Amino acid sequence: MIKEGSYLFVEGQGPVEPFRGKYAVKSADVFERVRARWASVGLDPASAYLPMRIELELTTKCDDSCPSCGMGALPLAEGRTLTDGQIRFLLQQFASIGLPSIAVTGGEPFTAWRALLKLIEGASEHGIDISKLTTNGSWGTVARCPRVFERLEKAGFLDGTLFVPLLMMSIGEQNTPLESVARILHHAVTHYSKRELNVAVSSLADPATRRHKVDDLVAVYESEYGQFPHERVHSTMRVYLTNDRIGGQAPVHRPGHTPVAKWMDHCFDCFAPTVGAYVLPTSLLKNDGSWYTCAAFNVPEKLAFGNLLRERATDVLARAAASLYVQRVRAGGGLKALHDVVPREFTEKTTCTSFCDTCALLIDQFDEKADTTTGHRSPTLIPPAALMARTNRAAAESQR
Ligand code: SF4
Ligand code: SF4
Repeated sequence: MIKEGSYLFVEGQGPVEPFRGKYAVKSADVFERVRARWASVGLDPASAYLPMRIELELTTKCDDSCPSCGMGALPLAEGRTLTDGQIRFLLQQFASIGLPSIAVTGGEPFTAWRALLKLIEGASEHGIDISKLTTNGSWGTVARCPRVFERLEKAGFLDGTLFVPLLMMSIGEQNTPLESVARILHHAVTHYSKRELNVAVSSLADPATRRHKVDDLVAVYESEYGQFPHERVHSTMRVYLTNDRIGGQAPVHRPGHTPVAKWMDHCFDCFAPTVGAYVLPTSLLKNDGSWYTCAAFNVPEKLAFGNLLRERATDVLARAAASLYVQRVRAGGGLKALHDVVPREFTEKTTCTSFCDTCALLIDQFDEKADTTTGHRSPTLIPPAALMARTNRAAAESQR
């Protein structure tokens, strides 16, 4: 399998190789093309933050129930999917900021099949690529698999101009039979070239046996279809902080006793235009419209800069770009840029378990030292029924 992190292309740091990496691009001049797109909608190319991608939570519904779900998924009856009107509105918002690409997440996007097709079709009409589509693969049955691919293709999933789309399958705690995942993989690699579609598998090791689920997938695949297409499948292991590596990958140690200073020194710039191994800067748009300047699983709440269902995207983006924290990290090439604001006394004595936990701690420190407030909370609209319930509850409590 293709190791995570391969083919990292950062703007201004050497040439970009097309059709390389999990988030492969279709041309070497991708950054010039994206900058022209931003300029065409009036954005300042010198801005500290311009997103290459929005990770869009299309639905919070999921047909699985993984114990450590990091996606905030809800059962089918409780989750919420963006309406057609919201999808249309958001696409206009995305176009207004010259957005190059969308990553579709959930919940499980395929439980919102009609909305997913609307989104892909609409994105295609606006000239916005779908650079990633994440799934648990529950649609990989004999009856559905080929039909789903056919319909995705018809909707324009493969028609992006900047990125080769990636189909990302999660097989961590999911209950999808591996036969279904193998069928999707086999269909993808036998019907499409790597210039048309990339595939990735995000896997977990069983803590009891230390056996990696991707090994089981390879065995299932090979018993059904022959040689596993290692040269076509990208691995994604790093998203699980305590995960084991697969064979051939360096061991990862994420102890809870790593000083903040050390994390800072090894962090790279999340806000520098990047393709290939990752797409950066990225952003997260939650199903309720809340918008964050990064899409980390444990994104700090202070990186929320507004709500794209209630405010103009250009205003929210301007707010993020004006953030002193974002500007500092961007100008200094990552979290290490905060060494001259946050004292060593704090960064060397405080420990945490990840870059993003470090980021959250540093934002608090930065705000205190620089006398600023990172992030922005949009005014909350309270639906009348909820407002009434809240008022009644307050009245009842005051009579106790
Ligand atoms: S399949 Fe994905 S979204 Fe659904 S419960 Fe599992 S981790 Fe969460
Ligand atoms: S370090 Fe900060 S900006 Fe970078 S991914 Fe983590 S939370 Fe986001």
